[in-house]
Amino acid sequence: MNSNELWKTVLGEIELQISRPNFLTWLKQSQLVDKNDKNGVALIGLPNHFAKDWVKTRYHKLILGSLRNLDGAVKSVDYVVVNSQNAEALKKRVRKSQGGPKVSVRPQEPLLELRVDPKTNLNPRYALDSFIVGSSNELAYAAVQAVIDDVGTKYNPLFLYGGVGLGKTHLIQAAGNAIQKKYSKKVRVLYVTSEKFINDVVWALRNRRMDDVKSKYRDVDLLIIDDIQFIGGKAATEQEFFYTFNTLHEHNKQIIMSSDRPPAAIPTLEERLRSRFEGGMIIDISYPDYEMRLAILRAKVDQQEVVLEDGILEHVALKIQNNIRELEGVLNKVIFYQQYKGEKVTTRKVDEIIQEVTNVVSKNITVQDVLKTVADFFDVSPQELSDRSRKKEIVEPRQVCMYLMRDVLNLSYPHIGERLGKRDHTTAIHAYEKISREVSQNPQLNQRITLIKDRLQKA
Ligand code: ADP
Ligand code: MG
Repeated sequence: MNSNELWKTVLGEIELQISRPNFLTWLKQSQLVDKNDKNGVALIGLPNHFAKDWVKTRYHKLILGSLRNLDGAVKSVDYVVVNSQNAEALKKRVRKSQGGPKVSVRPQEPLLELRVDPKTNLNPRYALDSFIVGSSNELAYAAVQAVIDDVGTKYNPLFLYGGVGLGKTHLIQAAGNAIQKKYSKKVRVLYVTSEKFINDVVWALRNRRMDDVKSKYRDVDLLIIDDIQFIGGKAATEQEFFYTFNTLHEHNKQIIMSSDRPPAAIPTLEERLRSRFEGGMIIDISYPDYEMRLAILRAKVDQQEVVLEDGILEHVALKIQNNIRELEGVLNKVIFYQQYKGEKVTTRKVDEIIQEVTNVVSKNITVQDVLKTVADFFDVSPQELSDRSRKKEIVEPRQVCMYLMRDVLNLSYPHIGERLGKRDHTTAIHAYEKISREVSQNPQLNQRITLIKDRLQKA
């Protein structure tokens, strides 16, 4: 059997064991680059890093088993990316050295410097340098600059508000990063979402560990609380927040908050907290204009070494007006189509992509759809996602499932926990936060989530 026939047979066997969409996505374009290696290494070629990484982690056993069955000379399997740039070189190399091609491929580890700092909870991805300033956010940006120059005394608290996806999290985290850098270790910074704060307080009350929580939040020089609008409505947490706020404020410690609306419009917020918030600086971030949207897209493209057809960015900037996250989402998908699928993206295709990105929620995707799509994607059963198993092969899919239930369906954490094997809501929060963090740092995971969302769309 020659390489081609051998590989066809292997694929035929594997096709029967994994789902159809997975087979088409990951293995259809695979090839057996070399099997005559004297060490018995069969070299499998995949069209890109995503496929390579995925096939290696999920299908390695299947491939190795099947190859060995069919060809006793094969001892192990290695993987390589084959694309138009390296295909020829690779062939020559294989021909020349039948003694084992040492084709080195750049591993796609998440960049070290992009890890969230466990002490401060800040994500270094959010930098002031990458924050594009325009008329919609220049006041907020200036206020942040003033706070960086004069921590704790000038605008305290600083309260930024604005709609979803307009850059609040980016700006307040960037403030934290800049302050850390400017004052080095002398300034203790802590970033949390208000949900995390609530969670900590509830946990502390339950476990009689209030002192831990008090020192966590009060022994800092800068406390950044994201999405403060969720703080209202629970007496115990609001009270704790009130005391924390006062303690910090009295000692000239800086507080920065973000919210989706001004303090006066948070219905559940206690009067005494509202007046505290209003005692500082309140600034809104509004919708970016066309020029700014285009500038954001250009900046993102510059970071990524991609070449897009003329007019594509203008088209995206024109169509997506109210949400920078959507702007990025569409751009990511455009880049994904071009790089992963090798399609030339036209403005027509962009319109389709916009439809897909903006319609994810409105398509009435159900909990069942998410469970099934995630299970299929990872080749596990929906039941396994709910079971107690702590196996690595199950834990990641389960966390992705929780993440999508939040991200796509907007379900509450208790509800998500309940649907996935009656787990505690804290497990769901942890999963959501973990995956959100990783998505921004790990391009492989990001692409997987994009693919799953794509399948949900078409489910
Ligand atoms: P919010 O917290 O207001 O919902 P985010 O801060 O999460 O919004 O922003 C959504 C996405 O848009 C993030 O990836 C962020 O980096 C990006 N973004 C928002 N505003 C800007 C900006 N002015 N310049 C560059 N990127 C931005
Ligand atoms: Mg945010």
